[in-house]
Amino acid sequence: MSPPLADSPTNAPGPGCPICGLQADPLAWQADGIARFGIGWVLRHHPAPAPLLGWLLLDSGRHLGGPADFDAAESLAFGEALRRSCALVRQLSGCDRVYAIAFGEGAPHLHVHLIPRHGAEAASKAWGVADLYRAVEAGERAAADPAAVADFVARARRQTADW
Ligand SMILES: [Zn+2]
Repeated sequence: MSPPLADSPTNAPGPGCPICGLQADPLAWQADGIARFGIGWVLRHHPAPAPLLGWLLLDSGRHLGGPADFDAAESLAFGEALRRSCALVRQLSGCDRVYAIAFGEGAPHLHVHLIPRHGAEAASKAWGVADLYRAVEAGERAAADPAAVADFVARARRQTADW
């Protein structure tokens, strides 16, 4: 696993940014961190309570709001980072497809939600996944089993060891 990116001169953390905070937090990394790869991508499992097993987040290592803020190298590398990460979700979760959504409302730092879509799970279909998310957040629906998440993270780390 690569060292944290926070001390790179191009990676000044955003003041009070929760994503920068998570990326610099060794305990958060120990729980949910999967890979730091390429020119600064960070892949991690959704923290507890996780809405679904295999719901990953692809963060820019650098504090930026979204693709409109990419430099040229980040712009060129984003497709490959997204392809690898989505393929990993599909491979390890066995889902039918992977949704990729980025809002930037919870934190002004790019974190693309990579959501496993299983045909048998009606509650995760299209925008229904937002209702599912809110239900888990409110404690109205069970979150993914933490032991299963830990196993998923361990398998994902092995799969990404050479990224
Ligand atoms: Zn940030």
